[in-house]
Amino acid sequence: MISSVTTIVTELEPSADAVISAARSALLEETDAASVGEHLGHEVEDGHAVTHHFACTLSGYVGWRWSVTVALAPGSDRITVDEVVLMPSGDAVVAPSWVPYRERLLPGDLSPGDLLPVADDDPRLVPTYSFGDDALDTDEKAQIRAVAQELYLGRVRTLSPEGRDAAHQRWYAGESGPEAKIAQAAPDRCWSCGFLVRLSGPLSETFGVCANGDANDDARVVSLDHGCGAHSEVRLAKKHRPLPPPEMVFDTVTQDEIDSV
Ligand code: SF4
Repeated sequence: MISSVTTIVTELEPSADAVISAARSALLEETDAASVGEHLGHEVEDGHAVTHHFACTLSGYVGWRWSVTVALAPGSDRITVDEVVLMPSGDAVVAPSWVPYRERLLPGDLSPGDLLPVADDDPRLVPTYSFGDDALDTDEKAQIRAVAQELYLGRVRTLSPEGRDAAHQRWYAGESGPEAKIAQAAPDRCWSCGFLVRLSGPLSETFGVCANGDANDDARVVSLDHGCGAHSEVRLAKKHRPLPPPEMVFDTVTQDEIDSV
């Protein structure tokens, strides 16, 4: 840093008044005197440089301090200023650590048009069988391709065991699992419900999809031991049924009969 401060010394004695004074003068070239407080101490950088700290009295900068690094080059008798910075100390109020965008996103944050690329090495995915686009197809290749397509192997990547286990854990522990309040209070389980659509693949042993438009879980994956009050076989117990309306009564009393009483 270029500073107009010129201090002549023969050696750099870190705590010497001349060095502290040179650091303070350099600081006052950068900021108002009103924002500089007492000298707080120093740190020796090496044999030729030392950093002096001064309190910062700017409002809103509680715990921050000015740090001025000055140096004496070998063979020189002039103190030079390396840098003047405002630094937070241990009890300073600072912004929270920056979190990468990818890690800040939560389920439900994506808006229409947003893109969320998946890393090449995402452990939830593994490369799957690729059946290529070879023009010289043989019957055998066509057959393999057809089978592969049927088995959903036409994708570049597919769920890895880790990805599958994570989904299993998340779904089972969530609002569509057996511990959800609605499931705890349900009269019956999804596995016996006519509205359950079966899945295929490894997750089908535990999950299906609810297809009851009146249920909270309509169109969602539900565990087979989940359940709700909209189960297809739910019937109201007698005590829950509405009371039948009373017998009809015909009022045959006329106004004349009332008047004659
Ligand atoms: S209606 Fe209820 S019990 Fe039936 S599948 Fe859907 S969530 Fe399960």
